[in-house]
Amino acid sequence: MKILETHNLKKYYGKGDIEVRALDGVDLSIEEGEFATVVGTSGSGKSTLLHMLGGLDYATSGTVTVAGKKIFELNENDLTIFRRRQIGFIFQSYNLVPILSVYENIVLPMELDGRRADKKFMDQIVQTLGLENKLDALPGQLSGGQQQRVAIARALVTKPAIILADEPTGNLDSRTTQEVLGLLKLTSEQFHQTIVMITHNEALAQLSDRIIRIEDGRIVNDYANRAGVPGGRSFTRHEEDMEEAGETGREVRI
Ligand code: ADP
Ligand code: MG
Repeated sequence: MKILETHNLKKYYGKGDIEVRALDGVDLSIEEGEFATVVGTSGSGKSTLLHMLGGLDYATSGTVTVAGKKIFELNENDLTIFRRRQIGFIFQSYNLVPILSVYENIVLPMELDGRRADKKFMDQIVQTLGLENKLDALPGQLSGGQQQRVAIARALVTKPAIILADEPTGNLDSRTTQEVLGLLKLTSEQFHQTIVMITHNEALAQLSDRIIRIEDGRIVNDYANRAGVPGGRSFTRHEEDMEEAGETGREVRI
């Protein structure tokens, strides 16, 4: 079943001489349960696309349909509610609330919506992501990888139609990147959760089931990726590149 669809989606910023066509006619269709990656260089329109798919901003023209709903037909208030229920976001910077515990952060989107987290589902998520012993900790007491695992749990817990992840491993070292992406993939399979991840990193795109390439606001390639396994050829090659470049340590961005 199609869970997300765009039709001739355009987003232009500015007017006249300074007009930027960030998205220039994107037709995209995502099936329920897919783990797809949008890959493209800096400035190609990835973040703009993610903002449109998640209803964080309105398009210049075209449609985005999520779980059967044309989201730009909603007013701002209804769009906020729709987003809270149907879209999960994972950002590079984790965006956890520093004064809330891990547990409180994970259930926050449910509570904002006046719902209670399904205890059994919550336990499954926490266990899958290896957070059992961290539930009382504050985000500041966790490593980057652990914080991003909390953000993944928070995105999963509402059972959204789709999770959108913008460069989710951009702040992590290569080993943690592989671990977090492995978990993202595992949760996608285990919970049949649709995930669209955005990255500028070719090697990371190779870990997903489907690679959608964007250039200058247009999709230029879209194909199923059979080699979508963690530790696959492309990833290994990238790690070797990094070693050659003498890059080590936690702060390395790949
Ligand atoms: P990516 O995430 O692939 O790096 P973006 O979607 O952030 O690309 O940006 C696509 C293009 O749109 C770039 O040329 C960028 O400068 C421009 N852009 C993005 N956001 C805005 C904005 N709020 N106002 C004006 N131009 C923008
Ligand atoms: Mg971006």
